[in-house]
Amino acid sequence: PCTDFDKAYFHSYAHVGIHEEMIKDRVRTETYRAAIMQHQSFIEGKVVMDVGCGTGILSIFCAQAGAKRVYAVDASDIAVQANEVVKANNLAERVIVLHGRVEDVEIDEEVDVIISEWMGYMLLYESMLGSVITARDRWLKRGGLILPCNATLYMAPITHPDRYKDSIEFWHNVYGIDMSAMLQLAKQCAFEEPCVETITGENVMTWPHVVKHVDCYTIQLHELESVSTRYKFQSMMRAPLHGFAFWFDVEFSGPANSPTNNHNQSLLITTSNNNPVDGITRKKRANPNQALVLSTAPEDPPTHWEQTLIYFYDPIEVEQDQIIEGSLTLSQSKENRRFMNIHLEYSSGGRSYVKESLMR
Ligand code: SAH
Repeated sequence: PCTDFDKAYFHSYAHVGIHEEMIKDRVRTETYRAAIMQHQSFIEGKVVMDVGCGTGILSIFCAQAGAKRVYAVDASDIAVQANEVVKANNLAERVIVLHGRVEDVEIDEEVDVIISEWMGYMLLYESMLGSVITARDRWLKRGGLILPCNATLYMAPITHPDRYKDSIEFWHNVYGIDMSAMLQLAKQCAFEEPCVETITGENVMTWPHVVKHVDCYTIQLHELESVSTRYKFQSMMRAPLHGFAFWFDVEFSGPANSPTNNHNQSLLITTSNNNPVDGITRKKRANPNQALVLSTAPEDPPTHWEQTLIYFYDPIEVEQDQIIEGSLTLSQSKENRRFMNIHLEYSSGGRSYVKESLMR
């Protein structure tokens, strides 16, 4: 059923600003376009569905790549503009805009390709992947192509002294006045909820840990209700630990059972970096077939997703090689599945902490 929360969610996509931001994110949009062109020989003459077409940009790229027909589906009123854009580009015969939820619309054929830009902050925020799964199970032919084919969410401990100085230490001396009485409130306001910010590789204290790997061909709806992981990091530096950063990447490799298929092989090979600590992995871009990767990692060019940061209220002084370990659970909020509950447990240097937050 389409809840009031869903209505509010789709309404937020009726504004131009959100589409402008996504389209102007060249890393995002050009990687999608390059992926469509890379799979042109598969897409040519085929039927495509664009799950959440927004302004229609990915649908039009697919039509330009030679798709026979593209179903461009969006539940937001932005579908009205998508339809106009399609007509103005003389593609109305091949791009069919459907204004409705993928869960509700009807089409009377199967599709060869599903394309979607469904990723939210921290990958899973917004819970739109579920709609891609629904479309896949309703319409995708055997041997069909899903773009992107997989996604990986990472986390790593970070140090960010400048950010902490700016928001917190600042109150120690304000025009010569001791405003430390503000500290408690400042910490609460700055760090209660996750922050979407851009950090750099220099803030990151170790190799990342894989929180969740999603294979878009096989993932099931119930697996997304709650995602849990245990992590164990060994700090590569002596620094104040301010919290954890989260980012993701997605890959665009070929369809199942085709010569260019590689989604069954592990493209993001994670290998132990001769480090005795379990769970500390090093990400390698081992891409035998040059699958395109859209990355939102701190060491890669920035995107509109930036990184998501969960800050602690107080930093932990960490020595080189010190262990930082704990667990994380991300779950869809019971009241509104578009929101995400984050339960984080962490311990280091003999003390343990718990932090709960809500991403909304
Ligand atoms: N494909 C566009 C827009 C991506 S934003 C682009 O790449 O620029 C995601 C879009 O998916 C939003 O416009 C949102 O309204 C739509 N969407 C999310 N869930 C949906 C669902 N279940 N059914 C139809 N549209 C959906």
